[in-house]
Amino acid sequence: MVLKNILDFDYEGLQNYLTENFGIEKYRTDQICDWIYKKRIFNFDDMSNLSKETRKTLKENFIILLPDIVQKEISKIDGTTKYLFELADGNLIESVLIYYPSRTIACISTQVGCPLKCKFCSTGKSGFVRNLTVGEIVGQFLAMEKDNNININNLVYMGMGEPLLNFGNVIQSVNIFNDPKMKKLGARHITISTVGIPKMIEELANLNKEIRLSVSLHATTNLQRDKIMPINHAYPLEEVIQACRIYQEKTNKRVTFEYILIKGFNDSTEDALRLVDIFKDMKVMVNLIPVNPNPAGFEKPSKKFVDNFLDVLVKKGIDAVVRAEKGSDISAACGQLRLRRLSDLS
Ligand code: SF4
Repeated sequence: MVLKNILDFDYEGLQNYLTENFGIEKYRTDQICDWIYKKRIFNFDDMSNLSKETRKTLKENFIILLPDIVQKEISKIDGTTKYLFELADGNLIESVLIYYPSRTIACISTQVGCPLKCKFCSTGKSGFVRNLTVGEIVGQFLAMEKDNNININNLVYMGMGEPLLNFGNVIQSVNIFNDPKMKKLGARHITISTVGIPKMIEELANLNKEIRLSVSLHATTNLQRDKIMPINHAYPLEEVIQACRIYQEKTNKRVTFEYILIKGFNDSTEDALRLVDIFKDMKVMVNLIPVNPNPAGFEKPSKKFVDNFLDVLVKKGIDAVVRAEKGSDISAACGQLRLRRLSDLS
């Protein structure tokens, strides 16, 4: 008999399944979730307040499936920890744990590989294999909590893959993270980071959750964006921005935009002014990110150019910051660890 991964279930789904199939009392679901999501106990035998019978039923029908840690790199500079996880079918994914004084952020994957082939990204280079299941998405977070014996208080869907192309499973995992009876992570501490799939952004807006939206823009014209993000051919800049405007109208939430700065490509004063124009009448936050080492060989602009870009935005009233580099001494950019491992194996 194939055991079900208990991490695939949201609270209501688990409660109904246990009651309908095994006659397990409803309050038992609270106890089980408490052990897994609050106490970080991943073995049914250790759930001491469950009856012997309930534990036996759980063991015979379920597994609590965390991914295996294949490799771990820890930054000597700031503690940023990059994980290479192996899933039950042997596929590899990456997750990152980033430490700030007041918060710890888990950056998790939603797909094995990615179909979108952004030029600056190692994940895109390795192609797409499959979507992650709900349990595989949740499992990364729990595995990092277990490994470090900590409670992680922030979550970003920004690892390998495009979250909005695995919409159903991503939203189910958000429900699990957010549910007070499960992980109890405040919705405002959860961010979905996307390249911008307009119809899915609107769908997200319709769900009316308090979660944050972050959109990778990285360019100010279609000509420019086409060159680094092939998805722009399907969903041009103006459609992405229009969807973000709708999102903002419906949710009244500020949208974060990520903008990778690439030397001599999108880092000029003209680019900054075009960005100001794009964001006219919107409430936005702009994260400027000098580009990481990447497969296309793009280079970081000098500090002078980065400071100038930031200055233009701020003087025009746009909230913007240059994102502090984390884990610069490890392969912290998305997909590097997996790509290296795959080429080691080939
Ligand atoms: S940047 Fe994100 S969307 Fe683009 S190829 Fe990499 S993982 Fe996919």
